[in-house]
Amino acid sequence: MVFLCLFFALLGLGLGYTARYLKVQGDPLADKIDALLPQTQCGQCNFPGCRPYAEAVAGGVADINQCPPGGEDTITALAQLLGVTAKPLNADFGKTSVPAVAFIIEQDCIGCLKCIPPCPVDAILGASKQMHTVIAAECTGCELCLAPCPVDCIVMQPLENKPSQWLWSVSYE
Ligand code: SF4
Ligand code: SF4
Ligand code: SF4
Repeated sequence: MVFLCLFFALLGLGLGYTARYLKVQGDPLADKIDALLPQTQCGQCNFPGCRPYAEAVAGGVADINQCPPGGEDTITALAQLLGVTAKPLNADFGKTSVPAVAFIIEQDCIGCLKCIPPCPVDAILGASKQMHTVIAAECTGCELCLAPCPVDCIVMQPLENKPSQWLWSVSYE
């Protein structure tokens, strides 16, 4: 028993030192790039989210003009950060649209759950065969939930035209 306690104590100490001294460092440049991205997590840049795109730009394998949600503002900010010349948004990746959030037309929702897995930020609430709804405060406007809906009851609404459904808010305090 004493031997076991000693063993686990030494193991804990070893793991602690390993975590302290062999800590994997992040990429500071990717961090700065990521901080300038809109965090829509839409994948339009051909990467599975803003962080992978930031790492690709930092690594020189993606260009600064592949983020449609960020548009010209993001391109300008990235160009300044990286000390390169700004360039127009590459239309191959899409075009910049008005900031919007998803809205579920509740009376049409059949509760199929198909919109939930694609949402990168878990902004959709619902259960099987029950009405679903979007937590507007969490929605990034990525539109990834639109195509999977079999009854087309998810629509995008400009941020300035929030319907009354969105007036309730979630508090985490
Ligand atoms: S296109 Fe822009 S907002 Fe969308 S995932 Fe890529 S970096 Fe993020
Ligand atoms: S609710 Fe739809 S539009 Fe909003 S973040 Fe989720 S998948 Fe994207
Ligand atoms: S995919 Fe459409 S019908 Fe299915 S739960 Fe989501 S909103 Fe409702």
